[in-house]
Amino acid sequence: MNLLIIGTGYVGLVTGACLAEMGHHVICLDIDQGKIEALQKGVVPIYEPGLEELVKRNTLAGRLTFTTDYAYGVHNSQICFIAVPTPSQSSGSCDISYVLQAASSIATFMTDYRVIVTKSTVPVGTASQIRKLIAAKTKAPFDVVSNPEFLKEGAAISDCMKPDRIILGVESAKAAELMKELYSSFTLNHDRILIMDTASAEMTKYVANAMLASRISFMNEIAGLCEKLGADIHHVRAGIGSDHRIGYHFLYAGVGYGGSCFPKDIRALAAMARSVNYETPLLSAINTINERQKRLLAKKMAAYFSGEVAHKTIAIWGLSFKPGTDDLREAPALQLIEELLSQGAHLRLYDPISMPKAKKLLTHPSITWCDNEYHAAQGSDAIALLTEWKQFRFIDFPSLLKQMQGKAFFDGRNQYKKEEMQTKGFDYFGIGVPTT
Ligand code: NAD
Repeated sequence: MNLLIIGTGYVGLVTGACLAEMGHHVICLDIDQGKIEALQKGVVPIYEPGLEELVKRNTLAGRLTFTTDYAYGVHNSQICFIAVPTPSQSSGSCDISYVLQAASSIATFMTDYRVIVTKSTVPVGTASQIRKLIAAKTKAPFDVVSNPEFLKEGAAISDCMKPDRIILGVESAKAAELMKELYSSFTLNHDRILIMDTASAEMTKYVANAMLASRISFMNEIAGLCEKLGADIHHVRAGIGSDHRIGYHFLYAGVGYGGSCFPKDIRALAAMARSVNYETPLLSAINTINERQKRLLAKKMAAYFSGEVAHKTIAIWGLSFKPGTDDLREAPALQLIEELLSQGAHLRLYDPISMPKAKKLLTHPSITWCDNEYHAAQGSDAIALLTEWKQFRFIDFPSLLKQMQGKAFFDGRNQYKKEEMQTKGFDYFGIGVPTT
């Protein structure tokens, strides 16, 4: 099929490359001229494992092309996907202006039947808004489909190629058949397509993210209680995860969730509830606990240094909101960095992938950019682990300690064992792990 993907970010570029890999002809369109020029030269502007290779292979095969030209994109495609940002507004509600701009641009150039598919995460009712907007601009026939995206950065290609499910919110049998045909190559093993109305499809995406975030916040709340009562979250996690009704996924205590989806989607769902005067105390709590959690390491450091964080040198390992991505959006590391800098600390920062992006965001003179985790530790009073990159799993701790000035280790992702770290000479602080 001939497809147009509007927005070549984490979702659009991965989706476009995967659909091209399945043999479709895909045009990826973006309003960012620089991004499109880079992609035309084979330069992939984001880090996602396996993506560069996939983009190069399909570009060479002639199945994947890049443009900024809406007229060209819309004329040469049957199905137009919208994968543009849907950021938070100051009220917490979702800003769908980019989605509506994209829909309006499609309408301008439509001359015959098109299916317009939202991949962006959009509030319930957006499909109806898009339908009205397009109908007001063109006489050409069309259908709107809600097809929310569930890929995880860092594992986006395998998520896209082997999805747990494909949600299709549809308004007509014709669009449903076309979308089923498009995705048939992704569901050869067993049927993974769930057909529903557009409102339910839009809602499903928000509820999935809220459910996952609620598990994280729940465990973070319990971790704080464990510390106070002398229980260990590692044992508690294993103890509850072994119950098959609970399972082991998303039960890790840490420095809170970040990224481009959970924080904004929880805020947006709460805003949708407010708009219909429906109280959502649980959603509010998920967010409140996460905000508290993101401040936890700074609090623990202040207690350790008896409030004297000024002039201390702190090494921070990991900046992206999770391993496997260069995405820094709402990353817990950014909040910690801001708090420590405001208190006068010197920071030695290292991340295996996201440093080029981080250097554009963080320009404070008290920051030293480091070549690796050992370099960051040199002369530091404390180390804080913020992102659990695999290369941090096996560390030569005795040589690390020798390079430090102090001996505090703040493990924001519970990667190490307290007893082992203490035996090696560290003052170790995990999340939900009693200190004595
Ligand atoms: P992104 O910021 O990485 O990319 C969006 C792209 O859209 C940018 O390149 C931007 O230049 C482009 N754009 C903006 N307005 C445009 C317009 N009018 N026409 C053409 N291009 C335009 O965003 P993302 O992370 O890919 O997220 C996109 C959507 O997918 C959001 O709604 C997000 O919530 C959702 N989502 C994201 C993820 C994720 O892991 N990143 C996962 C699932 C769903």
